[in-house]
Amino acid sequence: MTDKENLHAFFHPETVAVVGASATPGKVGHTILANMIGAGYRGRLHPVNPKAEVIEGLPVVPSIADLPRGLDLAVVALPREIVLAALEELAARGCKSAIVVTAGFKEAGREGYRMEKEIAELCARTGMALLGPNCLGMINAAAGVNASFAAGQPGKGSIAFFSQSGALCVAILDWALGENVGFSKFVSLGNKAALDEADMLRYLNEDPETKVILGYIENVEHGETFLAQARAACLNKPVIMIKAGTTAAGAKAASSHTGAIAGADQAYTAAFHQAGVIRVNDVATLFNLAQAFSTQPLPKGPNLAVVTNSGGPGILTADAADRSRLTMAPLSTRTVQRLQEFLPSYAAFYNPVDIVGDADARRYRQALDVVADDPMVHSILVLLTPTAAVQIEETAEAVIHTARRSGKPVFACFMGRTRVRAARERLMAAGIPCYAFPEPAVKSIEAMYEFFLWKNRPAPQYAEVERNVTRARKVIDEHMRRREPEIVEFEAQEVLRAYGLPTPRTELARSSEEAVAAADGIGYPVVLKIASPHISHKSDVGGVAVNLGDADAVAGAFRDITARAQRMRQDAYIAGCLVQEMAPEGVKEVIIGFKRDEQFGPMLMFGLGGIYVEIMKDIAFKLAPLSRRDAVEIMREIKSYMLLKGLRGEPAVNFAALESIIATMSRMALDLPEVWEAEFNPVLVNDERALVADVRLTLHLRGL
Ligand code: ADP
Ligand code: MG
Repeated sequence: MTDKENLHAFFHPETVAVVGASATPGKVGHTILANMIGAGYRGRLHPVNPKAEVIEGLPVVPSIADLPRGLDLAVVALPREIVLAALEELAARGCKSAIVVTAGFKEAGREGYRMEKEIAELCARTGMALLGPNCLGMINAAAGVNASFAAGQPGKGSIAFFSQSGALCVAILDWALGENVGFSKFVSLGNKAALDEADMLRYLNEDPETKVILGYIENVEHGETFLAQARAACLNKPVIMIKAGTTAAGAKAASSHTGAIAGADQAYTAAFHQAGVIRVNDVATLFNLAQAFSTQPLPKGPNLAVVTNSGGPGILTADAADRSRLTMAPLSTRTVQRLQEFLPSYAAFYNPVDIVGDADARRYRQALDVVADDPMVHSILVLLTPTAAVQIEETAEAVIHTARRSGKPVFACFMGRTRVRAARERLMAAGIPCYAFPEPAVKSIEAMYEFFLWKNRPAPQYAEVERNVTRARKVIDEHMRRREPEIVEFEAQEVLRAYGLPTPRTELARSSEEAVAAADGIGYPVVLKIASPHISHKSDVGGVAVNLGDADAVAGAFRDITARAQRMRQDAYIAGCLVQEMAPEGVKEVIIGFKRDEQFGPMLMFGLGGIYVEIMKDIAFKLAPLSRRDAVEIMREIKSYMLLKGLRGEPAVNFAALESIIATMSRMALDLPEVWEAEFNPVLVNDERALVADVRLTLHLRGL
């Protein structure tokens, strides 16, 4: 990561050079200079150009060698071939930070890639804080810095925005100018040769001018640093992000269900969620949330009260609330009585409070004050349909009044566009988010409530897992030595035992006689499974027989299974069969697995097991280590959770037993880095206990 001091110099430069400044309007090297001047920059500004003498009234410095030493920031707008040399020279003169707007690097083929790598190495060596290359630049309006070639000067604000896409920066800036939204910091990251989103999160977390952090990212390269910074930032302020581009990287050849299903997108989702980052899918929501978070206090509970002058929109809001984590606040008897005192008899006194179509601003104000006084109300949404009777602007004032008086979060939804425009602007200027329709309003309030929950959640606790890593290692080392990446059930059971995982009683039988003896000992019915280090999908070769009720069935199954397997896999070594205790009827099958994500490390997966996993895709993901709470949540997050809870009088499965298997799996993922994928499929669970009835481990053999 970049040096802290240099990062400060980057955002608050006292001396700035524009290397490649141009006198020709329209050229990038001119726009940057003009933008710096236009932003009211008060430090020393040096255009660098070997040919000109004065640009925009500023004396021009002929070369980098003529610049003062220890410059805070150099903005480089040079042809790509001479960028590296310029940076070397700047660094040698003690320049603390740089912005390279020039394109044609990593994004443009091998030569560009090589040059960018050298830039990255230069930064790593010197600690220079470098933005880009291939970026739009950076704006810190409060410090009078606009070191970008963007069109237009955004105002000051409390929202920070960084983006990997320069095009998105341009669009957002234009939108912000139209909406009168200001920024605390505005950063176009470009190719991220040095400064990346983790640096931004670290800086913005400590930046007193930033209340909300927004980010657009396409990929994260240093997952661990990113997560650490995101987690730290989310404890202080909301971090809202759009992640674009679902890569196909995760879909490459995988030997387990977990591998096939768990892609990069799931890893991002899990990483964001566990760090506390609020993930959104579109730019409109990004800014809706930014405005809500930067202006309103967090709701301290789920109860939403709605005051409206029309029925339909009120119902729509109640529906949206119903689909969210919010609840329509139950109003107290006292509140209802107070409303009845002044509202017409045909009004609705329960939430949504419908003060009907002829409501004027005074009635709005009275109703809002009464509702806001109810201690059971945590947030308020004011709906206005522009009927003929309604006093739109005056109602906006009433909303502002209540918001200031109550101290509770207040949101407005003035429906429509033309007639409500002035009121909407008035509300936004007063720091009340105003929406055109109820759904996005509810979404914003819900996100704020969830962030409240996140901020106030107890510190994570981790389950103790008793285990014998040395014992588990033996099996793994053995396979590593033999360069066999697949550890099948018959051998992986030893790893399960080393981790104290509950397994069905199992014995290895080498002959049908041994199989019968084992079954007699275990008790009928039993399951027989092919035991071969070379057969990892046993059912595929007809290698599993369940519900074998007596000795004859066992002996017959042994002969069938081994003969068939040998026929289908002629070069497989067949050790015999596993004779296994059969789980009782009515057990449910779940799958618990993990896969290592290249960026974020081991990612656990939980879902309903059986043959339909890959089709139903009803699975949840979390990154290791999982806290106790994560283990509970990962189970609740699947749609079939209801099935596990038991339908129609059926008892719930033993969730505690599953939780402990999940915790053990998480522990295993951290203990055994050679294991690339692991899968317990199925784990058989009923109301009494859970058994790991099959296991497959896939190793990562270096150099393969
Ligand atoms: P595969 O290698 O084909 O995945 P499994 O060991 O998972 O083989 O067995 C296939 C299926 O047989 C399981 O999904 C489960 O439905 C059933 N099964 C396996 N072991 C048991 C057991 N001990 N008790 C009950 N059913 C079992
Ligand atoms: Mg299986």
